[in-house]
Amino acid sequence: MTRIPAEDEAVTAPSSPLDNALAQLSAAVKTLGYDEGLHQMLAAPRREMAVSIPLRRDDGSTEVLRGYRVQHNFSRGPAKGGVRFSQDVDLDEVRALAMWMTWKCALLDVPYGGAKGGVAIDPRQYSKAELERVTRRYTSEIQPIIGPEVDIPAPDVGTDEQTMAWMMDTYSVNVGHTTLGVVTGKPVALGGSLGRASATSAGVVHVALAALEHLGIEPSQATAAVQGFGKVGAGTVELLEAAGVKVVAVSDQYGAVRDDEGLHYDALQKQLWDTGSVKDTPGTEPMDADELLEMDVDLVVPAAVQSVLTEENAPRVRARLVVEGANGPTTGEADRILSEKGVLVVPDILANAGGVIVSYFEWVQANQAYWWSREEVDERLKRRMVAAWQAVLATSESRRVSLREAATLTAVQRVAEAHRTRGLYP
Ligand code: GLU
Repeated sequence: MTRIPAEDEAVTAPSSPLDNALAQLSAAVKTLGYDEGLHQMLAAPRREMAVSIPLRRDDGSTEVLRGYRVQHNFSRGPAKGGVRFSQDVDLDEVRALAMWMTWKCALLDVPYGGAKGGVAIDPRQYSKAELERVTRRYTSEIQPIIGPEVDIPAPDVGTDEQTMAWMMDTYSVNVGHTTLGVVTGKPVALGGSLGRASATSAGVVHVALAALEHLGIEPSQATAAVQGFGKVGAGTVELLEAAGVKVVAVSDQYGAVRDDEGLHYDALQKQLWDTGSVKDTPGTEPMDADELLEMDVDLVVPAAVQSVLTEENAPRVRARLVVEGANGPTTGEADRILSEKGVLVVPDILANAGGVIVSYFEWVQANQAYWWSREEVDERLKRRMVAAWQAVLATSESRRVSLREAATLTAVQRVAEAHRTRGLYP
């Protein structure tokens, strides 16, 4: 719920994800000494599409939803990024998320630009048949600007492998042949990659363990709190527990639970299956979800949505390490506060890049129609995540900048170099 400020309280508009993304780019451009023309080239999305999605509801009525696809950059390859189904989706949010995809792909050196899509819908209010119709109509509407060599969607908040199966099928039926490489994050039975479902969480945990080691904290001595128990959060809890880290608090959109002796992934997952939420998991204590990010733990993983660490709660953060499983969970103001407090923040474009890395592996496998073993996927993912962590850490130390600035400027530099080398047409 939005808190209403008292009358004498100064009201400053909190920075939006797009404000944050643009401010991060401006800082990188300044450090790199680029001119205003190049800055604008990097800031402006190459292509944007807004569509209306007429939906026939199960009761026979019709309603019209809004959908978007923003392709921020193509300099290093086809655009790539998820599709989000969420009530709050708007064009500016999708623009920010598309820009972050460009930097993420460049930082991890996967040969893509960045894109993002979204439909303004609360998927929990619709039946599976309705969601299928929304997905198929959205796909048909954006079909002119997607394709395995153009722009490759994937799952994000509110979408999953079933959504990707419908998108692949719709695109394929419309073009007249099965095109496995048009989306990633598909079910394994349908050209998906082994290891894709857990890839983002696995990546989060690879960098979290590397960052703990950097801080001199043994996993078996570490405590963690994880916000979100969805595609990213649940796997993060499972893999942190497997690595010996004590996960003492977990939340989802319905509530939060804690256990100072350590929560167990299996019990949380069972409760989710039985009730749709981790709330009231047997053997745990209830807690206020708003307090989770401020707990006295070593590691906090925001793994839900954007803008949850703000100037309001950042001063109360007690963790030594924040690893961003979500996209854009920390506002610019909160970032400054955490940095002043000496909290190490591993930025989203590094921390949650495991998903797009294995999306890349899936696309490579689909295009070659040759499938890798789970071990190959896991091993290659780990190698890329650890190498990227080491490179970002080295840049942050040599340039005396935060990990976020180091990651952003490394990525921006790669995109700018590709752009300059290709030259400006005409
Ligand atoms: N939606 C995920 C992200 O934000 C994955 C994108 C992809 O695999 O293309 O990174």
